Amino acid sequence: MEQLALNFRDNETHLKSIFEKTTGRGIALTITDNATSMLSVKSKGETIYVRLHRIFLEAGTEVVSEVAEFIKKRRGTPPLISGFIRERREHLKKKVPRRSKLCTNGKHYDLLNIYESINKAYFEGLVSATITWGKKSPRYAVRKRTLGSYSSHSNSIRINPVIDNLRVPVFYLEFIVYHEMLHAHIGVKSKNGRRSIHSKEFRVGEKVFKYYEQVMAWEKRNRI
Ligand SMILES: [Zn+2]
Repeated sequence: MEQLALNFRDNETHLKSIFEKTTGRGIALTITDNATSMLSVKSKGETIYVRLHRIFLEAGTEVVSEVAEFIKKRRGTPPLISGFIRERREHLKKKVPRRSKLCTNGKHYDLLNIYESINKAYFEGLVSATITWGKKSPRYAVRKRTLGSYSSHSNSIRINPVIDNLRVPVFYLEFIVYHEMLHAHIGVKSKNGRRSIHSKEFRVGEKVFKYYEQVMAWEKRNRI
């Protein structure tokens, strides 16, 4: 009975092993922040590819075993899962990503404004990651600059304050934010070692950005 009391929070590896035990197959699990497709299952060769919304990291034992059964049978949607999704979807919509340690108000640009308009324009308002300006770090002066990053662990986006600069056009900043939100949306695969972060799917998604050509052209002319 101890098994039932297990806490699944943040336990991707555990989910994966439950799915593997239930199905008897290898599972490639991708945790996503894509609320339009909370759960999708594809079978390819010996492996079952499962894309699962991050809310399931917080699901209880019953829901998790229903998910596992669904992955195994791939038929219908069990009532427990749909109830869970419905409840959490409402929760996701209401949630405004804002925490005290987050800093969205830059010297020149307001990240939250940009984040929210991009969320609406490209993701139906369903990306739930938090966003913040990162800290200024002297490291950036030496290393090749990372302009943005997304952590799937904390579901958070960090943007380098070096682009909080009026020399940087707003479409460029928007693109950096869009790029990181796309990471949240598509998810990060947790498969043996090699992580294909910028997959073909990702590159295609990037080009959906309205000012993609301008971004590429600007990037060529300017070194940040
Ligand atoms: Zn990236």
